[in-house]
Amino acid sequence: MTGPNSYDAERADLKAQINVLARLVDISVTLSSTLDFQRLINYIITAAAELLEAEVASLLLYDDKQNELRFFAATGGDPSELAKIPVPLNASIAGTIFRENRAIIINDVSKDSRHFRKVGEKVNFHSKMLLGVPMRIKDRVTGVLEALNKKTGSGFTEFDARIFSIIASQAAVAIENARLVTALQEAYADLGKLDKMKSDFIAIASHELRTPLGVILGYATFLREDAKGETGQYAQAVFDSAVHMRKLVEDMTNLRFMEVGQMPVQREAVNLHELLAEARQDTLVLAEAKGQKILLLPCDPPLVAQADRAKLIVAVSNLINNAIRYTPDGGAVELSVYRKDDEAWLQVKDNGRGISPRNLESIFDGFYQVEDHMTRKSGGLGIGLSIVRNTMKLLGGRVWAESPGEGRGSTFICALPLTAKS
Ligand code: ADP
Repeated sequence: MTGPNSYDAERADLKAQINVLARLVDISVTLSSTLDFQRLINYIITAAAELLEAEVASLLLYDDKQNELRFFAATGGDPSELAKIPVPLNASIAGTIFRENRAIIINDVSKDSRHFRKVGEKVNFHSKMLLGVPMRIKDRVTGVLEALNKKTGSGFTEFDARIFSIIASQAAVAIENARLVTALQEAYADLGKLDKMKSDFIAIASHELRTPLGVILGYATFLREDAKGETGQYAQAVFDSAVHMRKLVEDMTNLRFMEVGQMPVQREAVNLHELLAEARQDTLVLAEAKGQKILLLPCDPPLVAQADRAKLIVAVSNLINNAIRYTPDGGAVELSVYRKDDEAWLQVKDNGRGISPRNLESIFDGFYQVEDHMTRKSGGLGIGLSIVRNTMKLLGGRVWAESPGEGRGSTFICALPLTAKS
């Protein structure tokens, strides 16, 4: 018979179930937005114990190497103590839940022979009632979620089991995600270390190559001047190869500037004419070897930009170096800097082999070279212009190339914003 009392009881029961479901939604939202592994599992068991009104909740994950379950967290009890206890798959209730992939409710644990007592003894906890559910991702069981000793009513119910299964499957996915994120972060950190080792190796190797190469270049220069006939040709071949190698070593040293966009900018007042003079001095040996002149036009009044001196000189040296290499023996390179509105335009002009219109932009791409690398004579790594472009971008400027066409010389222009004072 259903009287007003049982109607009220049903309403109260329904209200309680609605509350539980509302709380379940909150838990789901938190689970899908937490990626910190330890915080996530602590949250899962606390929320699970609270929602089921259980004295304790615990979470076991499957260890595929040992083929056993291990406690990862538990409310109450020392989690590090629990973590030491392996839970066998064949002689425990958790193991049965895992193997049979189904929920189990036992409201009198002491009578169940599968109960694995070692855990309770270790943490001094007496389990009377147990609800355990498998944690699944698709068909794969990854662990077990357990609640012990219901504080209200006469024990765990089917409704509790259904609610618990929902938490468990969401927890399984959230844990998997957190694990994947952690693994990715670790892999990323490892990659960073490897990348640093690679960069360090290149920096050290290129630095160490400079000294012996300088010696080879120096003696080859003497020999070339003194030797006659066939020996003179051999000396010239040694010299050319050493110059080629010097370019490669310089490119290796400059490889780190490829990532120039991620480097800190150290601005200072830079007199741009002086900077051109310095870069010219650095490249004179190369130009003289090819019988070329490098002309630096005067600049009056002086132009000063707030720029990163070290990076700017690498960029300008790359342009001068190219002008020399891509201009035949006896050619000329002209350097100038002048004001254009509120910018300074640094110009490197040569009367060399020129650039066809279709290549004027692509030459600024990393590792792009107009000639096939197997047949080219003036080989570098193809990174110089991409370094120049990155540097100019970093300094708030621009760089571009102009050329009337192949065989008719090239001009490279770097536009840099000027400070108010200059
Ligand atoms: P690399 O010189 O090592 O090949 P860069 O990035 O400095 O690499 O130059 C890319 C390409 O642009 C060169 O391979 C060359 O074909 C072309 N280039 C660069 N500077 C000049 C120049 N002054 N005259 C003609 N071509 C040039």
